[in-house]
Amino acid sequence: MKTILRVSLSVVLAGAMLGGCSDSSEQSVNPQEATAKNEVQETTREVIQADQNQEFEEFKEKFLEEMWQVYPNYGVYVGYYKYDDQLKIPNQEREAEEKQFSDKIKRQLAKFDTSKLSPLNATDHALIKNQIESGEWYRDVFKSSEWNPSNYNVAGVFGVILNTDYKSLDERLKAISKRLDNVPAYYQAAIANIKKPTLEYTELAIQQNKGALGIFQKSIPEKIEQSTLPDEEKKTFEPKLEKAINAINGYISWLEEKHKNIADGSAKSFRIGETLYEQKFKHDIVSDYTAKQLYEKALQSKAELHQEMIAITKKLWPKYFSDEVMPDEELVAVKKLIDHLSVKHVKREEFVDEVRRQMPIIEKFILDHDLLEMDPSRPLVIRETPEYMRGFAGASVSAPGPYDATANTYYNVTPLDHYTEEQAESYLREYNHWILQILNIHEALPGHYTQLVHANKSPSMIKSIFGNGAMIEGWAVYSERMMLEEGYGNNEPEMWLMYSKWNLRVVANTILDYSIHVLGMTREEGLNLLMNEAFQEKTEAEGKWRRATLSQVQLTSYFNGYAEIYAFREELKQKMGDKFKLKDFHNKFLSYGNAPVPVIRKLMLTELGLE
Ligand code: ZN
Ligand code: ZN
Repeated sequence: MKTILRVSLSVVLAGAMLGGCSDSSEQSVNPQEATAKNEVQETTREVIQADQNQEFEEFKEKFLEEMWQVYPNYGVYVGYYKYDDQLKIPNQEREAEEKQFSDKIKRQLAKFDTSKLSPLNATDHALIKNQIESGEWYRDVFKSSEWNPSNYNVAGVFGVILNTDYKSLDERLKAISKRLDNVPAYYQAAIANIKKPTLEYTELAIQQNKGALGIFQKSIPEKIEQSTLPDEEKKTFEPKLEKAINAINGYISWLEEKHKNIADGSAKSFRIGETLYEQKFKHDIVSDYTAKQLYEKALQSKAELHQEMIAITKKLWPKYFSDEVMPDEELVAVKKLIDHLSVKHVKREEFVDEVRRQMPIIEKFILDHDLLEMDPSRPLVIRETPEYMRGFAGASVSAPGPYDATANTYYNVTPLDHYTEEQAESYLREYNHWILQILNIHEALPGHYTQLVHANKSPSMIKSIFGNGAMIEGWAVYSERMMLEEGYGNNEPEMWLMYSKWNLRVVANTILDYSIHVLGMTREEGLNLLMNEAFQEKTEAEGKWRRATLSQVQLTSYFNGYAEIYAFREELKQKMGDKFKLKDFHNKFLSYGNAPVPVIRKLMLTELGLE
């Protein structure tokens, strides 16, 4: 479900998180002024507009350059390597540096009149503003630097530098050498920052930092051997590596001690509560809904999906269970039918081929039904997921990073050859005949892949870097339902049943996340929701529970984006009547790039004169 692109968007920065965007309430995107009454005015306005846009382009360039200086780790993750030798120490001086940077950017942003900016610049302006405000909130209010010890881990960026060929190995090792000097101070600052952590994040930090040791004990020494650095220089690494390893081990021991002390119940709760949840929702998602409203919408969706699934089950029951009475408990009957249908799937060795076979069929459907513009110059490249990317089986879209010149965007499909017979069977039942088609729609056409192609037509570094996750995932989820509504799958009841199960997952994620963090839902209640009301397997449900204790809000992004795009489409249909064309809506919507849905909605209504 996740695109590779998203991975780089949720990068955790030293100390503060800069992931996600923020704040829709103070959007600075104003409706454009009414058309000028005479030509003189018109000309004047155009001149001002041109000036502001040019000025804004210059501002953006400077802003990014400065940002990579202040957040060099983040730069490395998106492929900007100029400051790769800088490891920032998360101390007070660092906090002051961040604060100074965000204050300055805020002052500069305020100088622009966003009504005088082009739509693309106006969305960039909104994204930068959201990002800065979000960063302030994470630093001053959320303060996970005090209670999430897994914020502190130096391994990730060392790994990227070590394994990415952006310059010679010798040069990269020089950057690594300089970074190593700061590792002991980095962990000292981490220990000073942590006040009252949650048990869950403490356990995660211990586990992840233990995993980090391998880079310093094995990977870096191996690369030093392979390098052509003079022996003298090679030797200088030894004491540095030893100090780094000691620092990490020291942090692990300190956390283990802390874990013992807080295991008696004095740990901070992983539930963040209503106030912080609503604020985090506002910053990370950027929605016209509040978290509570979205939760209520999800409850309503769950009820509707259940009704549809029950109706389909009643209809299909005699076809598949002719000599069996349907169980009284309707959801039990639904589950039984889903299980029965799920045996229809491809053979494990045909999994990748089946994806290749399906894509042209899905593409033809989109073209025949005139659903949106497809760019023949950017064909979908399907490939087997490269070995180094194979963490989990499944499918993903990998887009080149914003600073990466590689032209291709890939649809990665992982063959099931590393699976046991049992694992493969369970996986294939999940991605059965129907769900596999929905997965292809979500990941590729007209989901993530198509969205990326459209977004790249008006390239914006800002939108590549600060892209709104709820919009990106929401589009992919929206495209699933849209395809079925337009007749993909011939309105087969089996297809709608499986789609409903699939859609229930994003609905249940929203209910689960809100219920856990705001309403105090217990683990047992959570598993019951996922297994009995969303028809998930136990392992999947348990994994989801764990994820919800180690994150907040993110699980709601899929449903939020979907619900907002769907609602906006229905709103436009109503406002435009006969003039509404689905294809125009899709093309126009996607042309704004990875901006938050409320920002796109506002700009589109203005452009269409419907405000
Ligand atoms: Zn997705
Ligand atoms: Zn089977």
